[in-house]
Amino acid sequence: MSKQRVSYFFNPDVGNFHYGTGHPMKPHRLSVINSLVLNYGLHKHMQVYRPYQATVQDMCRFHTDEYIDFLQKVTPQNMSSFTKQLSNYNVGDDCPVFYGLFEFCSMYTGASLEGAMKLNNNDCDIAINWAGGLHHAKKFDASGFCYVNDIVIGILELLKYHPRVLYIDIDVHHGDGVQEAFYVTDRVMTVSFHKYGNNFFPATGDMYEIGAESGRYYSVNVPLKEGIDDASYWQVFKPVISNVMEFYQPTAIVLQCGADSLAGDRLGLFSLSNKGHGECVKFVKSLNVPTLVVGGGGYTLRNVARCWTYETSLLVDEQISNELPYTEYLEYFAPDFTLHPELDAKAKKENCNSKQYLEAITKFVYDNLKMVQNSPSVQMHDAPGPAIPEDAKIKEEDDPDVRISQDLEDKMVEAKNEFYDGDKDNDQEDIKMRE
Ligand SMILES: [Zn+2]
Repeated sequence: MSKQRVSYFFNPDVGNFHYGTGHPMKPHRLSVINSLVLNYGLHKHMQVYRPYQATVQDMCRFHTDEYIDFLQKVTPQNMSSFTKQLSNYNVGDDCPVFYGLFEFCSMYTGASLEGAMKLNNNDCDIAINWAGGLHHAKKFDASGFCYVNDIVIGILELLKYHPRVLYIDIDVHHGDGVQEAFYVTDRVMTVSFHKYGNNFFPATGDMYEIGAESGRYYSVNVPLKEGIDDASYWQVFKPVISNVMEFYQPTAIVLQCGADSLAGDRLGLFSLSNKGHGECVKFVKSLNVPTLVVGGGGYTLRNVARCWTYETSLLVDEQISNELPYTEYLEYFAPDFTLHPELDAKAKKENCNSKQYLEAITKFVYDNLKMVQNSPSVQMHDAPGPAIPEDAKIKEEDDPDVRISQDLEDKMVEAKNEFYDGDKDNDQEDIKMRE
C-alpha cells in the first residue's frame, strides 16, 4: 500500500475565539493541538494549508438563508434586538452569541469544504480539519455548541464526485445533525457510536433509528452505556465498520473524531484512552478510502490536544515520543508531560456495557446492513477507488447539491430524484473499466 498523502488545514486565528466564561467549548484547544503538531515536526509529513473561509452561499448549501443571515448579523451588542430569532434559532445558552461568531463558523466550515474539494481533486488521500466536526447543527438552527454543520457541507461537496459517502462518528454524543440531513437518502450512510440513555444529549440515536424512505437502513446507530473502555469499544467498532464496508462500499469517508469520548472528559461519560480512540482512526485509515477527518467535541483541553496530536501522527504514519515536546502550553500537561498519561483511576467510570449487550447491538446492526445489500435502489458494482477524474465531472444540470437541498426541504426523496440513478452508475462503471 503506497503512503497516503495527507493535507492539514489550520487557520491560526481559529483558536482565538471565545464562547464565553465557563463555557466548556474552548476553541483555544485548536491552537494547543497545532502547536504540538508543529513541535513534534508532524507538519513535515503533510501539506499544510491556511484554509479557505466559507461564504454565506457555501453555508446555505445546507442551512436556510434566514438562519445564516441571522448568524452573520447578530453580535453581543445588538442581540437584544433579535429576541425572537435567538429563540427560534436556539442561540443564546448552549450556543451563545460571541464576538466573531460568523467568522469562526466560516473558518471551520471553509476548512472542511476545502478538504472535501482536495479529496475530490485527488490532491490528497486524507484531509484533516480539527476545527471542524460540529455535528449537531441543524438546517434551521444551532444545537450543542454547533452553529454551521461543516460536516454536512463537506459531504455535499464529496457527493459531487462520490456515489456513496460513509460518515463515522466517534464523539460521545449522537451525530444527530448529520444523520438528520441524510436520513432519507442512500447516498450517505451515517454510523454513530455514542452514549445513549438517561436523556444524555441530544437524546436521539437509539438503534431503531435506521433511516427512512430511500434512506431506510442507511442510518446506523450504536447506542452505548456509560464507562465503555477500549476493549469493549473495539468489540463493537471493528465488526460494525467492517460490515458497513462490506455492504455499503463507500467511495469516500468522513470521520468525526470527537474527543469527548475519552476518559475524564468534562462532559463525556466514556472511559476510552488516547490509544483506544486512536485505534478507530488507525482502522479507518487502513481501509484506504479517501477520508476527511474532522474534530468535534472534547472538553478537557489537555486530553483533546493529546488525542488529536496522536491521531495526526497515526494519519501521517509517524511514531512520536511519549514525552511531549516543548511548547508555550507545556504547563497544561503537568505533572507527567506525556502524550499517553496513565488513566486516572478516578476518571475511569465503571463499564456498564456487558459483552452480551455489545454482541446484541452488533448483531442488530449486521441484520440491518444485510438489508442494504438487498435494497434495489443501490448499485454495488463499482468498487471503492479514487475520486472520479476531472473529465468525468457531472454536468451542471445534475448538480446534486440543489437536488439534495430540495429533497431535504421536502423531507422526501424518491428514487427517480436521486442523482446517481442507474444510468449514471453505469457511466461510472464505464469510467472505471476504461481506466
Ligand atoms: Zn460531543
